[in-house]
Amino acid sequence: MSMTEATDLADLPLDELIACPQCDALYRARMPAMGSRAVCKRCHTVLIAPKTNAYLHLIVLSLTVVVLMVGAVTFPFLGVNVAGFSNKASVVDTALTFMDGGWMVALSMFVVAFIILIPLFRALLVLYVVAPLTLGRRPFLGARRAFGWSEDLRPWSMAEIFIIGCAVALVKVADLAKVEFGPAFFMFAALVVITVLQDINMDRWSIWKALEETS
Ligand SMILES: [Zn+2]
Repeated sequence: MSMTEATDLADLPLDELIACPQCDALYRARMPAMGSRAVCKRCHTVLIAPKTNAYLHLIVLSLTVVVLMVGAVTFPFLGVNVAGFSNKASVVDTALTFMDGGWMVALSMFVVAFIILIPLFRALLVLYVVAPLTLGRRPFLGARRAFGWSEDLRPWSMAEIFIIGCAVALVKVADLAKVEFGPAFFMFAALVVITVLQDINMDRWSIWKALEETS
């Protein structure tokens, strides 16, 4: 593995160092061979993992997130049936349930931002950053800033919390009403899984390096 111990790192320029995101151990960063991985010696977190077609995978996953999000917003999310009366709601309806005035309006806006706009925006940012790299072109203007935003917004992308919250709430009302999951529910669940997988597998160091070298 092309990592050296922390003792002789003091003289190295900052851009040659990589810190483990889990335990903060510091290493000298060198690109491992295609298909192999640089792993933290202390906690075994994968630090760098160049893969063939990694950019292409990212593009496909991000496009999938965009398509699923459009579907998840358009199709019915939940259907509730109580004593013959039925009602269908979209994700946006669900998020805007609290829109009856005061600070609850702000809360609804935050919910829409956290579960729809931010995940969508992050997928679009990744597409913007990675598409030129896939084609071996120079990155688009501001690609580094765009990738920085995508990373900064990661903790604010809360689609998974929303879907878990909905599932828990539905289990509780299942006795009172007949609840049906609409197509949007499954689209939303799928996009949550894809986003999580993408965040886990994304080789950030390689992307930063590619942006540095070509811009
Ligand atoms: Zn570590």
